[in-house]
Amino acid sequence: MPEIRDCIVLHGPELLPMRCARFAWKHDTITAMELGAPCTQLDAGGLVVIPGLTNAHTHMGDSALPDGATGLTLEQGFFRPDGYKYRELAKLTEQTHLPHLIAHLRYMARTGTVRHMDFREQGAYGAALLRKAAQATGVDSVILAQFNGVPFTQGELRANQIGFRAADLADLDELLAVADGFSESTMNDLTDAAWRELRAITNSQGKLRAIHCLENAGYRDLSLATTGRGDLIRAIELYDPHLIIHLTVADAAEIALLVRSGKTGVLNPRANANLGLPLPPVAALLRAKANLLLGTDNGMLNSPSMLAEMDFTYKVAKSQFGDAISPDPGAILKMATSNIHAVLGGDNYGYLQSGLPADFAVLDFNQPQLRSTRHVTASVVTRVTPEDVLATYRQGRELWRDTRFVTAP
Ligand SMILES: [Zn+2]
Repeated sequence: MPEIRDCIVLHGPELLPMRCARFAWKHDTITAMELGAPCTQLDAGGLVVIPGLTNAHTHMGDSALPDGATGLTLEQGFFRPDGYKYRELAKLTEQTHLPHLIAHLRYMARTGTVRHMDFREQGAYGAALLRKAAQATGVDSVILAQFNGVPFTQGELRANQIGFRAADLADLDELLAVADGFSESTMNDLTDAAWRELRAITNSQGKLRAIHCLENAGYRDLSLATTGRGDLIRAIELYDPHLIIHLTVADAAEIALLVRSGKTGVLNPRANANLGLPLPPVAALLRAKANLLLGTDNGMLNSPSMLAEMDFTYKVAKSQFGDAISPDPGAILKMATSNIHAVLGGDNYGYLQSGLPADFAVLDFNQPQLRSTRHVTASVVTRVTPEDVLATYRQGRELWRDTRFVTAP
């Protein structure tokens, strides 16, 4: 059974750094964690074992177009039917597209990520393509598929009366047969009747639901103009999503609504900044005790590295708190690890404990910028670079291993 000796482990859902004489796993399960004293500082380096990271919001479909949206607005770059992303995706074949997906999932593994939750365009075909990349790499792709076409005309959306047609329901059946759930760009893309149908159909099949809300004020304004209500309240009441993405411009009442609903918010601060949008209210959401996750959003906008996302988010949050004390860096690390359990349940713990799945990454704290850290968790969040990730395992399967890293026999 492979093992690591004399390391530091971030233990349990609170991610407490502890000395660990022996960390062992067999097949897909952690079989031993011989814990010693808490350990927040290092004097002469060491190996640090962290839970495998969750990237809770991606669009890996457009990872084929890195920085392709440079100089474009959100609407020009990303909206159906004629945004740059959709025009370019339509030109790709499986042969030209799949290698980009595989390469980016490998990059995720190389940067400590074991799982991502993807808004996958291109209907059932798009979902199946990402499934192939997940199978090739071992990274867990939680696939939230969307319609390939736009089911309603602008006039139908404004009237907000009709529900899905038979052809839309057939498309939905087809994509849910491949995907883990459904996603849509905005609440303004479907009618209220369609949202209710989606909720019932996905519920009956045990599928996940996700939606972008409040990415910019336009989402709220258009929803108000069409239906008299903002996009967040409509999402919660009509669609009951497991994940609400962005919340970039959420005001105090909307933050209170999110927390009352018990829904999980997924923040993407680097993507928001890259599009010239406001930064999400990380501090206000943390103060309100919202369950939060982090994502890197479009492959066009960002590399899918949670290391970069955590560093940026921590500093944005510190600036917003404005007191140099809050938040605890552990609160940011939980957004990439243990906060996932409330959403996915099952074997998706996002933390390390004997008897749980062997989903972890090994970090090389012998590197010069890490070896004498005065705060292990802060350094995991802000100083670890891709070169410092020695290995990543999901359910005991090696997704990435640097040749520098050898497990004890
Ligand atoms: Zn997105």
